[in-house]
Amino acid sequence: MIKRTKYCGQISQEDLDKEVVLCGWVHRVRNHGGVVFIDLRDREGIVQVVVEELNSPSAYEVADKLGSEDVICIKGVVRRRPPGTENPRLKTGNFEVVANYVELINSAEPLPFPVNEETPISEEIKLKYRYLDLRRESMKENLLFRHRAYQIIRKVFVENGFVEVETPFLTKSTPEGARDFIVPSRMHPGKFYALPQSPQLFKQILMVAGFDRYFQIARCLRDEDLRADRQPEFTQIDFEMSFVDEEDVIAITEQLIKTLFEELLGVEVKTPFERLSYQECMERFGTDKPDRRFGLELVELTDLFKNTEFKVFRDVIEKGGVIKAINFNLGELSRKDLDELTKFVQSLGAKGLAWIKVEKDKLTSPITKFLKEEEIKGILERTKAKPGDTILFSADKREMVYKILGNLRLHLAKLFNLQQKDRFDFLWVVDFPLMEWDEEEGRFVSLHHPFTSPREEDIPILQKALETEDLEERKRLVHSVRARAYDLVINGYEVGGGSIRIHRRDLQELVFKLLNISPLEAEEKFGFLLRALSFGAPPHGGLAIGLDRLLAIMRGLDSIRDVIAFPKTQKGICPLTGAPDYVSPKQLKEVHIKTVEYQ
Ligand code: ASP
Repeated sequence: MIKRTKYCGQISQEDLDKEVVLCGWVHRVRNHGGVVFIDLRDREGIVQVVVEELNSPSAYEVADKLGSEDVICIKGVVRRRPPGTENPRLKTGNFEVVANYVELINSAEPLPFPVNEETPISEEIKLKYRYLDLRRESMKENLLFRHRAYQIIRKVFVENGFVEVETPFLTKSTPEGARDFIVPSRMHPGKFYALPQSPQLFKQILMVAGFDRYFQIARCLRDEDLRADRQPEFTQIDFEMSFVDEEDVIAITEQLIKTLFEELLGVEVKTPFERLSYQECMERFGTDKPDRRFGLELVELTDLFKNTEFKVFRDVIEKGGVIKAINFNLGELSRKDLDELTKFVQSLGAKGLAWIKVEKDKLTSPITKFLKEEEIKGILERTKAKPGDTILFSADKREMVYKILGNLRLHLAKLFNLQQKDRFDFLWVVDFPLMEWDEEEGRFVSLHHPFTSPREEDIPILQKALETEDLEERKRLVHSVRARAYDLVINGYEVGGGSIRIHRRDLQELVFKLLNISPLEAEEKFGFLLRALSFGAPPHGGLAIGLDRLLAIMRGLDSIRDVIAFPKTQKGICPLTGAPDYVSPKQLKEVHIKTVEYQ
């Protein structure tokens, strides 16, 4: 093989009439009788190679037998393409290389799917032959985009005085609300490492160590059910800062996001981003990660039905529930649509879907006959409904109404194509409650993680809550405590989240107690953190951004798998390597493990 002198995709004016050596893959090949045209491809792009039988018979003989994705090397002279044959779709489209030498380096078997066109293929096949998939233009561009993002991330952090530090993979549990992946220890029979759900505790400890500003493009591992678009391992842009408050963390995040969007997409990003409280998000969108690219906000109606005779609504209100509605004013909803929407909300646990269709001079609805005139008037006024609109109701427990209408809103957006992919809506969600009551577990759980600081002025409430015996009163008190946390939401995705942390041992212990983590358990699990906090921990805070999701949003992709080189399937399988797989009895013995089938 002779050594290449250039990338195929870089052939340009300066190469005119010069001899070049190119190496790459046969993207396409066609024989026009006496002349073979090869589209030769490498990472940088494609160039047309011409092999003429008359002038280079031995090169022609090789070229004539080439097939898709064969690896070849050619030598030839660059010339301008004859007028009228230029290809404006190629960067090199004004030129071609007339080859006098063609060498077949390695031939390719018939392909499981074409590389030179973007025909859809099943996820399984796509990932099994990921090396072929990554040769495709779109996937290659996704990974190169990711590579450019890394450089910008590093540049922004380094310019702002952050230090890049790697934290361990083999560690103890870091609770981010998911299940740990665990690794058996060979040298310590019966003991296990946990793979990190995030570098959370290490980055806090780096602050105690005086590093002041840390960042890492970190891999995180969470053994979650892979519903939706999740991956068991994913990447975070993780950072932490000392002697700061919320504003400092928010400012650096905005600078990073702005630079990424501007430098990678040429999209102008206005800062500061808007902020909404958790409460307002829930009330208006039914979720703490609202997609605000379209309207369809939730409208509060409960007070209109205080004295209603409509039994369904009255029962809900008597049980402390609420009534809210969405006015669908972005298109006609047919009866068939309404049936489908009813099925959709039922799948979420709603009993049904009440609706009112507003027509020119009448209302069509299964519920208006139960409503008083002033109630109907109130509904129409509040929802600002006009002819052509359809009002969709949810009456249930507050959390259920949020869930149903929040999801219905998104479902309608998908149905009516309301989520423009080239529009970006940046939002901070703030003023989260510190903890919420988990019915299933019968205890309080952190909304973010247990290391998030409450607002200074709310600390006495926590103290009081701990001293209160009455559970209902305790719930009321705890729910009123606000966290110093902030989430970055883009187009309905929680792209980042972080907080100012607890930096005092006594406060951390108090929070553990409220989370029902006993002093013994706290010592066992987080003793190292508590100790660190008692050796001069500075006030600190930080944030982590889900890099895969951020890149998918930037590139208008639905799945984060498309921005990850070697992702797993929805079932957590790597079809390329076959992981996870069985290991030999010998390996199991070494790590002191016997497998048994649990029922
Ligand atoms: N460790 C957190 C997470 O992974 C982010 C943070 O609080 O910095 O969500």
